[in-house]
Amino acid sequence: MRRLLLLSCLLGLALLAQSQEKDLKVKHKDQPIEATTEAVEPKLEVPDPGALKEIPEQQVNGHWVLVIHGGAGGSAPRSMPEDVQNEYRSKLNEALETGAKMLREGKPALDAVETVIVFMEDCPLFNAGKGSVLTIDGAVEMDAAIMDGKTGLAGAVASVTNIKNPVKAARLVMEQSKHLLLVGDGAENFAKNQGLEIVGQEYFITPEMKKRWEDKKKGTVGAVALDVNGNLAAATSTGGIMNKMHGRVGDTPIIGAGTYANNANCAVSCTGQGEFFIRNVIAFNLSALMEYRNMNLEEAANYLVMEKLKEQGGEGGLIAVDKNGNIAMPFNTNAMFRGFIRSDGASETAIY
Ligand code: ASP
Repeated sequence: MRRLLLLSCLLGLALLAQSQEKDLKVKHKDQPIEATTEAVEPKLEVPDPGALKEIPEQQVNGHWVLVIHGGAGGSAPRSMPEDVQNEYRSKLNEALETGAKMLREGKPALDAVETVIVFMEDCPLFNAGKGSVLTIDGAVEMDAAIMDGKTGLAGAVASVTNIKNPVKAARLVMEQSKHLLLVGDGAENFAKNQGLEIVGQEYFITPEMKKRWEDKKKGTVGAVALDVNGNLAAATSTGGIMNKMHGRVGDTPIIGAGTYANNANCAVSCTGQGEFFIRNVIAFNLSALMEYRNMNLEEAANYLVMEKLKEQGGEGGLIAVDKNGNIAMPFNTNAMFRGFIRSDGASETAIY
């Protein structure tokens, strides 16, 4: 008996030492991330799922922020013709204005990000909804997700082929089902039963789009917002990556990988090579670095995109807004279509 007790004590000590060794100490962006054996107090509390609905609204502060992206990429630096750049920037501005109008009226961040993404899904310039890139078999398969930073609830759809606005389906999964992620025909049947518009593949892939697709860079779309009540929300929608296999799902609909929002710190939407974003759980990692390591939004976002992903060869970027309205839009590619607008009147769009 004594021996057994001694053995389990030793085993316990060995496990503790191992977990401490694995712990990574995150330093600021100009310092390397290194392994440490320093013990870190675990502060994990497992939330009661019901309690998630009761996270209180943050103090009404009256200011709002909206940040959007239209995808990251670009094979050559600044290679896009001026007129094409203007076309993109004018659509980014329209998307920003669509969301800004709602936030100005005091509407929730969640409604604003959904509406902005619907606008961008309907715009053939972007790789989401109409204008999505094609799989290796020449079909369109789309992913989308939405997350409410106030309640911690989220919804997503993946590999859907006929839902006109996948982000609307994602929101319905969140609000009208007991699930978080629906895929393929299960998601499509659900969307249809919920009354969403169902369209044929020809809606997404017009012959004109096929041609455009060849000569224009397209990108996933994302939006994050802070509303006047201090609530955060994020949404992302995509056709995925060009020539992907049938059934491939990227980071966009994976909560914590491509999309994440938490009123306690930030809302994030990612774009780039999804496999890298999933492996590195980038969107949640940003929130976690802020929460557990006290990093600020910019430091955490730069570290993840410009160091962690880059070291692995993972290309892409992200947009994020924190609970105080700070913005980060880092990318390690040649370009990322992006823009923001704030209640103080500041607004900007950029590609390079
Ligand atoms: N992240 C998306 C995916 O991997 C693609 C993109 O953002 O361009 O599906």
